[in-house]
Amino acid sequence: YQNGFLPPPLQIDDKVRAQKITTRLSGMVLGGRELARVGAVFENELQRGLSEQPSSLQMENTYVPELPDGTEEGLFLALDLGGTNFRVLLLELRAGQLVREDVKQYHISDALRLGSGEDLFNFLADCVLDFVRSEGMEKESLSLGFTFSFPMRQHSIHSGELITWTKSFKCGGMGGVDVAALLQRCLHARDLDVTVRVLLNDTTGTLVAGAHIDPAVGIAAILGTGSNGCYMERAERVQHWEAAHARVHDVCVDVEWGAFGDNGCLDFIRTDVDRDVDAHSLLATSFTFEKYIGGKYLGEVLRAALAGLARARLFPAAPAPASLHTADISAIEEESSRGECADTLRILEAALGGNVRLSTEDARVAQHVAAIISNRAAQLVSVCIATLLRRMSRPYVVVAVDGSVYKRHPRIQALMRRYIALLAPQHRFSLLAAEDGSGKGSALTAAIAARIAARAD
Ligand code: BGC
Ligand code: MG
Repeated sequence: YQNGFLPPPLQIDDKVRAQKITTRLSGMVLGGRELARVGAVFENELQRGLSEQPSSLQMENTYVPELPDGTEEGLFLALDLGGTNFRVLLLELRAGQLVREDVKQYHISDALRLGSGEDLFNFLADCVLDFVRSEGMEKESLSLGFTFSFPMRQHSIHSGELITWTKSFKCGGMGGVDVAALLQRCLHARDLDVTVRVLLNDTTGTLVAGAHIDPAVGIAAILGTGSNGCYMERAERVQHWEAAHARVHDVCVDVEWGAFGDNGCLDFIRTDVDRDVDAHSLLATSFTFEKYIGGKYLGEVLRAALAGLARARLFPAAPAPASLHTADISAIEEESSRGECADTLRILEAALGGNVRLSTEDARVAQHVAAIISNRAAQLVSVCIATLLRRMSRPYVVVAVDGSVYKRHPRIQALMRRYIALLAPQHRFSLLAAEDGSGKGSALTAAIAARIAARAD
């Protein structure tokens, strides 16, 4: 374990094969020195992003200047777009406590994900209409929090433009369009008396929802379909302000680390496997860092790594694109920790189309590759979180985390604890699983916005 960062060696009987595989995969294995370099580059990009110099990090001002204080009140609609499911929620807060939560999930077809933005937003408004009807509230006047889990240029706490689509969305006609205003227009066209009060990213929602559980929360991270983080930054360090911000000390900054390195500053960790994954993705050359971490991509990383081994005759055959998923990595990792390989064989043989027989040694190889991929993903988010911890230099920070990978991968949480501690040894932290930042966090943020507005009157 070089500096405690390297995964265990590949244990198979064929020592020559093991050695060749280890050499081929070495680019995906990051040691302490490389991770320190990633951290230094991240810090530099972060600094540049905050001061509006060219950077791969957006460092977006979210205009959320404070976290819950337990006085949040009201009835709110919330919209959660961008993760695995699109949801409409109705939430009621009494003295900071959630006393009611109704949720309905809607399916967004590929045609809508890849069609025109106008069609997508009309669909969102149709879902809101359907939802308030089913609640018997279509005549009521309601406030809405819109969790839009994509990079934005925010103009205020309730307005902003999409910068680029990510993950599995790629709708046309969205250049320069304020997504909150577009949603508002579509809602009004349906005669709904619903006002979009806040526009937020899912990381912001997670930060707010996490701080509601534990006031020591200062950072939030998502390890889901995509990956990103946000944190409370000192307002004086944030150059981009369009709204007045007198008396604001801190503000939530959305890092958008999914795009880290898109300008080439991280090419020193990029491998052929990553280029293969990127080339097969919906939005090639964009959000390349997210492709090391996000649940939308980890299965593809395994697929591409095994295909690379197959080309070098170190694995029997190459799985087809999109034949492996993040859930498969989780299952393979889980079985590997039990020292077995029946599930691994079943998963791989299915991915190979069912006509290749694999040996237990092949299964061990795949388990080893899966471990390297998980390790690297955990290390890279840990570098980002550790860098933020050092930057905040508070005595103790709780990191609120959410997302399918964080919740379901059998080893990711333990790996992150270990790596963050190694990378920020002077900083006390803990990880907090913060469920449903996109729903509850959005309602809490809307209540915070209402509180701030009332104070200003
Ligand atoms: C988006 C972020 C979002 C993250 C997690 C990324 O693709 O750019 O805004 O927070 O996914 O959902
Ligand atoms: Mg989500």
